[in-house]
This record gives sequence, structure tokens and C-alpha cells, in this order.
Amino acid sequence: MILQNYWFTTLMGLKDPIQPPLTTDIEADILIVGGGAAGLAAAYAVMGKGIRVVLLERNICGGSSTGKSAGFLTPDSELELSQLIRRFGNTDAKNLWGLAAKASQDIAGIIKKHGIQCDLQEQESLYLGNNASGYKEIIAESEARTSLGYTQTLYDKDAIKSLIGSSTYSGGVRYAGTYGINPLLYAQGMKRVLLDHGVSIYEGSEVKELKGNTVKTHLGSVKAAKIIFCVDKIKKDLSHFARNIYHAQTFLSISEILEPEDVQSLFPNGNFQCWDSDLVYSYFRLTGDNRLLLGGGSMLTTFSRNDVTSPSVMNSVIKKFKAKFPQLHHLEFMQYWPGRIDTTRDLIPTVAIDPKAPHVHFVLGCVGLPWATLCGDFAARHAFDDAGCTDHMCYEYFRPDRDFLIPLWMERFLGKQLVFSLNNGWAKYYQKDPPMGVER
Ligand SMILES: Cc1cc2nc3c(=O)[nH]c(=O)nc-3n(C[C@H](O)[C@H](O)[C@H](O)COP(=O)(O)OP(=O)(O)OC[C@H]3O[C@@H](n4cnc5c(N)ncnc54)[C@H](O)[C@@H]3O)c2cc1C
Repeated sequence: MILQNYWFTTLMGLKDPIQPPLTTDIEADILIVGGGAAGLAAAYAVMGKGIRVVLLERNICGGSSTGKSAGFLTPDSELELSQLIRRFGNTDAKNLWGLAAKASQDIAGIIKKHGIQCDLQEQESLYLGNNASGYKEIIAESEARTSLGYTQTLYDKDAIKSLIGSSTYSGGVRYAGTYGINPLLYAQGMKRVLLDHGVSIYEGSEVKELKGNTVKTHLGSVKAAKIIFCVDKIKKDLSHFARNIYHAQTFLSISEILEPEDVQSLFPNGNFQCWDSDLVYSYFRLTGDNRLLLGGGSMLTTFSRNDVTSPSVMNSVIKKFKAKFPQLHHLEFMQYWPGRIDTTRDLIPTVAIDPKAPHVHFVLGCVGLPWATLCGDFAARHAFDDAGCTDHMCYEYFRPDRDFLIPLWMERFLGKQLVFSLNNGWAKYYQKDPPMGVER
């Protein structure tokens, strides 16, 4: 098993050239910095509106988290629906979940509309319980879905065996309306759509400085009326919002193509995208050519400051998977790769306008492709025509100054890494927020 992002391997078949870096001084009406799911959605929201849209990406479009991800398109990010309900109550949870569910559909809709070749697959979701406490979470998720009027099917320990070839799960909840994609081909396909609709895109162009309405890259600059940062790992000198962001690390691997009988033994009744109820969960799905994409992590490495590149974490995820599916013990995994996901302290994205420079917008810490997409789209629509938008409530949902268990000043003593991991755990399992719109 070698250290290589499989999605990058699949780019070899793509004839679309890399866009050259910015080498001159140009002007724009809206500048988007960052070409991940959020930045691409932002550019898509304002393309073809008769304004000059420029996108700067320091790598290639999709080259960071987006193009390292497993490509599950589901509203579940790190927060399940039952956890959103506990935190925000039914109304706000339904609003937030609805936004992420819509964004999943929007991504699939854009892929179909523009014929983006990115292995789009309609894949139902299967959230699997790993023991008695996992089954409680499955039941909570099933009840949460029912209480908000979403369809789902609950399976107990015996019934789940009809869907998944393992006798170790304590149950599962299944629902439709979710998809799997090759996220890097998606990002590169979006790049082509944006270029075709007049957006100027410069790859290999890192924004290093922001002064007034102008950003500078190594060899060029863009002066823009509005600037939207949809970046990861933002540096402090670009924005003070950088202190709101840390990251979690997860790992992915890809197998050889499975034989038809192996596919059948894994999914006896059709293909699902799956994840389990463990704190550091495992997740898996099949690609269109029947390779198994398997991801996971470890308690020790999830919040580590730097990338962990050794295969040991992935090897132990694979070992655990094979213990659950002994009939697949012969399966060979070819490539693995780590990836960092930017997060906020409470796993809800930050979308904000710089109070001192209202032409500068930020979309940060989006966990999940649909969440990044909805936030990028939201920020760009509001930058373009705030008065014409009717969904200002999202500024409340995604405000940067939310309540956290362990406050910011404690980072001086405990360190950012520990404070983030504790706040993330609290947000997922215990936090209750006042209803949105209530003064804090
Ligand atoms: C291994 C892994 C598996 C995952 N699996 C899933 C999954 O199955 N489903 C799911 O929904 N989510 C998944 N995620 C999470 C998901 O990938 C992210 O939440 C999402 O991609 C975030 O999108 P983004 O646009 O906010 O960030 P990014 O994709 O990180 O995009 C930010 C972009 O900004 C660019 N940039 C940064 N700084 C600058 C600068 N100064 N100048 C110019 N450009 C800059 C970066 O190069 C990058 O391309 C996974 C993540 C990982 C790492």
C-alpha cells in the first residue's frame, strides 16, 4: 500500500489543463480565494451575472480537503441529525439539516446538468451501530428523522444482516437521497464549468497578503470590490478569524477492484455508503468500478498538529474492517492518504463578514462537502446582492462568536489542540445552544 491520493491518480485521464498562475495585476467585481467545494460553489453562485468573477487557488481546484475526501454526499457531517436537534431544537435543526440535504442534491444536480464526469452514484446511506451503545445512537437517529418527518428504515441486529455482510453490527438506519462522487474530478469538472461561464481561474496562485481591496500573490494581484475567502488552514495575517479554526485528521484507502462475489458478500442487497457509531468512526463505500474506499482514523492522530503519513493508522482501520468482514481477508488495498478537515470549535462552519472591512467575507471550517457548498453559495449570493437575499438567518447559524465549553482564553494554558478536541467532543455529545435569534 503506497502513500498516494487515489483521486489524483484518476486525474491522469483528464485532458483539461491546469490553469496557469496569476502573473499580472487585474481587477474583479468578486474575487474568490480558494477552489475547494466552498469556493467553487461561491463562484458558481455568481457566474454568468454580468460581473467579473476571479478565483485564485494555491494548489489545483479540489487539491486540498475536497479532493482528498471520500466523496460521500450526505447532510451528516460530524454532527448527526439527533445531535443537531439536541443542540438547537427541532426548528433550527430542521433548517440546518434541510440546508445540507439541499446542498447534497444541488451538487448532484449540477453534476447532472453539466455532465461532469466524476463517478456520481446514487448511494443510500447506512449508519451502522457497533455494540449496545452504538445501537442506542442508531435508534436516536431513527427517532430524530421520524420526528422531523424524514423517511428512514431502522434495522436491528438480525435484520441488518440482510444489507451488510457482517454479523458484528448491532443495527443500522438506512435512508435515501445521498450520493457518492470522485470529489477531485468533481472539483476539476466545476472548474471547467466556471471557465466556460466566464470565471477567470488561476491555479498555483496563493494569496499571501490582503490590503484594502487588493490581494497579492507571488507574481500578481487582484483588486476587487468584494473578496470571499473560502480557504483552509487560514493564516493569522490574513484574518483574525484564523483563531476560530483548527483541524481534524482522517485517513482513506482504496482497494483493488472487487470480484462480483466479494461485492455480493459485502452488500447482499445493493450498494450503500456506510459509517459506524464509533467515536473515531470508520466509513466505506464502493466506487463505480467496485473498488472499496475505506476510511477512518485513531484517537491519537485525529487532532495531531501535523500530518501523520505512516500507514500504521490505515493498517489498523483495515485490520478492524477485515475482522468484521472475514470473507474479505484477501482484499488488497493499493493506496492510502491522510487529509485534514478544517473545523471550528463546535463543528458548525463560520461564515462572517469582517467588521472592519465589510467587503471581505469568510467561509471557514466547513465540515462536509454539502456544508462547504451551502456556505460558499450563501456567502457569494450575499456578497453579490445582500438586499435581494431572503436567508440572512444563516449569518446567525454560522456566526463566529458562538458559545463554547472551554473559552478561547484557556488556549493560552491548555493549547489550541486540546481545547479544540474537548470543545468538539462537547459539541457532538452534550452541548445545548439557545434557540437561534435569541440574544446571548
Ligand atoms: C480524508 C477525508 C475524507 C473526507 N470525506 C468526506 C466525505 O466523504 N464527505 C464529505 O462531505 N466530506 C468529507 N470530508 C470533508 C470535506 O472534504 C471538507 O469538509 C470540505 O472539502 C471542505 O471544503 P472547503 O472548500 O471548505 O475546503 P478545501 O477543500 O480545503 O478548500 C480550500 C481551498 O483553499 C485553498 N487555499 C488555502 N489557502 C489559500 C490561499 N492563501 N490562497 C489561495 N488558495 C488557498 C486550498 O488549496 C484549498 O483548495 C473529508 C475530508 C478528508 C480530509
